[in-house]
Amino acid sequence: MKFQSTRNKNLRLDSAETILKGLSDDGGLFVPVEITKLVEGEIAELSKLGYTERAKRIFAKYMTDFSEEELFECAEKAYNGNFEGDEPTHIVKLGEGTYMLELWHGPTCAFKDMALQILPHFLVKSAEKAGSGEKTVILTATSGDTGKAALEGFCDVEGTEIIVFYPNNGVSKIQQLQMQTQKGKNVAVCAVEGNFDDTQTAVKTIFTDKNIREKLSAKGKRFSSANSINVGRLLPQVVYYISSYADLVARGEIENGETVNVTVPTGNFGNILAAYYAKMMGIPFGKLICASNANNVLTDFLSTGTYSINRDFYMTESPSMDILVSSNLERLLFELCDKNDGYITALMTSLREHGNYSVPDEILAKIKELFAAGFTDDEGAEKRIKMLFDEYSYLCDTHTAVAVEVYEKYKAKTGDKTKTIIASTASPYKFPRAVLKAISGEVIADDFEAAEKIEELSGLSMPQQLRSLSEKEPRFTKVCEREEMADFVMSTVGGEG
Ligand SMILES: *Cc1c(COP(=O)(O)O)cnc(C)c1O
Repeated sequence: MKFQSTRNKNLRLDSAETILKGLSDDGGLFVPVEITKLVEGEIAELSKLGYTERAKRIFAKYMTDFSEEELFECAEKAYNGNFEGDEPTHIVKLGEGTYMLELWHGPTCAFKDMALQILPHFLVKSAEKAGSGEKTVILTATSGDTGKAALEGFCDVEGTEIIVFYPNNGVSKIQQLQMQTQKGKNVAVCAVEGNFDDTQTAVKTIFTDKNIREKLSAKGKRFSSANSINVGRLLPQVVYYISSYADLVARGEIENGETVNVTVPTGNFGNILAAYYAKMMGIPFGKLICASNANNVLTDFLSTGTYSINRDFYMTESPSMDILVSSNLERLLFELCDKNDGYITALMTSLREHGNYSVPDEILAKIKELFAAGFTDDEGAEKRIKMLFDEYSYLCDTHTAVAVEVYEKYKAKTGDKTKTIIASTASPYKFPRAVLKAISGEVIADDFEAAEKIEELSGLSMPQQLRSLSEKEPRFTKVCEREEMADFVMSTVGGEG
């Protein structure tokens, strides 16, 4: 199987090269040239297997330049032992026909672990295949969840180093401590004076700086990125959607072949895109329900066909969804316009130059067939956290609450009673102040104090990896100016600039 760029479909690379590159040189995203169909009886077969074996089989359909043994080894290193419980994902039934797919039982308590635990192993194997012998240096700017998940994934993985920058005062106390206390020989973390956009822009500049790249190359190293446009993150996300359907069949909750809707709290459109791929592969998913917070750019696009970032930006209690440019949408559009790469290039140029684009009615019609979309503000999410807690003694985080609230509104409006899987993307203890305020009305400034109160009220204990943070000594406390970031990178990778 080859992968092509959404902006040049004639460029075709193996999965290993695609994973090493991340983004195509033409600015496009890589997609598989074909979305493989599951074969007759395959769902029934998958339903008898464990997660690692399921993952291997699904990867093998796309990563044909890897052997099955290699894929199994990657999946085993990622999913055996690093997640709480017997399987990496947990499904909790809430009332008739609503299934919470909890994707946050990994080391950092957010769904990004599902992909970032395996990406490092894909990268190392890909580098071996490329045969350059170069070490990979991961450079990442984070607004909170991605940085920590990447640090955990790459920690002490042979042949890799990772450097994470985050905006000083721009992440929660728990998120900051998660990064500052990161263990491992090959990791470095630095706070930057500025906001997330400043940090991200500076990282991109370092990434493409020729001079820095040459110095790195002289040391036998090269940059790579762990952000969500990498195919090595997309494929592991497809796996959990297929796996969750197989689980519901195995448990007798659904008939094999029964239609199930999927609801996803969405930011960069990576998670919900994976559900779309699973549907295209033949999993009988019905509507894909895209849930946004107050930054409802996707709600507007999926219902009107016009994408516009010329709007206010809101900082919400679901910060990982505070995004106006949802990069992975480009992959969906490429599929829906019959892989017209010139058209995609024109749309993305319009977005860059004018901050907007519109798609024609025939594409909008396809979108409406596949997707439903809705949004809610912090108040709606808070109210939903309380309702779930009161009704089911179920605690969810602020991102997941957006999804449940949007799903309930969708159900009320359409009368669609199809069963649904709702992606649950973070532990409630990752955003304890907002969760506590939702269930009890108490406003507490400290994350750990708020978490303790939630434990008293709910009886659900805080994950050990979060609880222990309050006792750990921060290891990375450096704060630098934007202009100093390149020096930090060079001193970390062993050169004096
Ligand atoms: C990243 C993230 C999201 C958004 O996922 P996308 O793939 O960017 O749409 C939602 N919830 C949480 C907790 C996240 O960390």
